[in-house]
Amino acid sequence: MRILVSGAGTAGLSAGIDLARAGHDVELVERTNRLRANGSPIDVRGEAIETARGMGILDAVREHRITMTEQTRFVDRSGAAVAPLAMQEINETPEDIELPREDLMTILRQALPERVDLRFEERIVALADDGDRVAVTFASGREAAYDIVVGADGVHSAVRRLVFGPEEEFTEHLGVYVAIGDAPGQETPGTARVTEILNLPGRFAGVARYRDKALGIFEFRSGPIDYDYHDLGAQKRILAEAFAGIEDWKVPELVEAVQDDPNLYFDALAQIVMPSWYRGRVVLIGDAAHCATPMAGRGVSLALLGAWTLTEELGRHGDDLDAAFSAYEQRHRPHAAAAQEFARGGADLMVPATWEAIAARNARLSAAQPL
Ligand SMILES: Cc1cc2nc3c(=O)[nH]c(=O)nc-3n(C[C@H](O)[C@H](O)[C@H](O)COP(=O)(O)OP(=O)(O)OC[C@H]3O[C@@H](n4cnc5c(N)ncnc54)[C@H](O)[C@@H]3O)c2cc1C
Repeated sequence: MRILVSGAGTAGLSAGIDLARAGHDVELVERTNRLRANGSPIDVRGEAIETARGMGILDAVREHRITMTEQTRFVDRSGAAVAPLAMQEINETPEDIELPREDLMTILRQALPERVDLRFEERIVALADDGDRVAVTFASGREAAYDIVVGADGVHSAVRRLVFGPEEEFTEHLGVYVAIGDAPGQETPGTARVTEILNLPGRFAGVARYRDKALGIFEFRSGPIDYDYHDLGAQKRILAEAFAGIEDWKVPELVEAVQDDPNLYFDALAQIVMPSWYRGRVVLIGDAAHCATPMAGRGVSLALLGAWTLTEELGRHGDDLDAAFSAYEQRHRPHAAAAQEFARGGADLMVPATWEAIAARNARLSAAQPL
């Protein structure tokens, strides 16, 4: 089949790899001019480990493994450690693999078969599904027809908006915003890899270190904020305002450091919940279908698994797309639902709303595992 995949993130690249290897003709379009490889380290967990094996990337994924969450601790306003965050609070099994997001993107890019037609600075602006083909118009003015369109264009998916309806219909805010950016100057020399987090009521400011890199990570509680999510300047302003006036620990220097990162990642923690992930010849995978938020720590695993399951079901059901998409959704939905459920409790763990809640969380974690 001739398949168009929109979005070259982890879901889109995985779909490109799996679908092309299954013999389909794949075109992959990415809105930006490069692979967006920045962000905090991510995890390949649970069943996604077997998926990575099936994709032939497991050895490479393991080679790039880092251990960061093993040494995560909460600090007080002076920077003294007050509670540890044990791996078992977030991991499924000890086999879970953590690696830098940029490394996984490179591994996926390298695994992408050459015959996948990868086009940057291209995006869909109109779709018309006549039952036999989907006619697509691109921002470049190009027009083409496909047997299937796969929306892998993330939490703010354009395919979802064009085919299923406005984003607000499917968005459930967790009431928290997140920002992640490079924080040069905060690296630890040698091999010490420590992640430190300061909580103030409704605020989280932390520094994560791996290899020779340091990342500033911020979370803050807030209702939905009205801003253009493509506007990096607006994102940086919102972040600075959320932490303005806080002089504790390294907060001012961390906020200042990430202001210089041209690739700052900033978004609402918002889940995508849809009654169905397909309509006609259009199907959604990854965050576009079921974003669980970074709080779940499972976005990448779900992306790998979803692309794999979709490809398998297309292989099993041939031209019967309805049967294939339905089987994909039935198999994959429990994984997405579990991740979303997990993330809903994440705000109370990572961004307690009051001093009392912070103290109770610290006491619970310290009792489970001493510092
Ligand atoms: C820059 C960036 C940094 C991230 N950092 C983190 C992090 O630090 N921690 C974390 O847990 N998660 C992070 N995520 C989210 C994480 O990557 C996803 O949860 C997970 O990998 C699932 O990926 P996805 O491919 O479904 O969506 P995404 O990773 O969001 O990828 C979607 C891709 O589609 C592209 N796209 C968007 N709109 C269009 C369009 N209209 N047409 C074509 N292409 C389009 C985007 O540029 C992007 O490349 C980040 C995502 C991005 C894009």
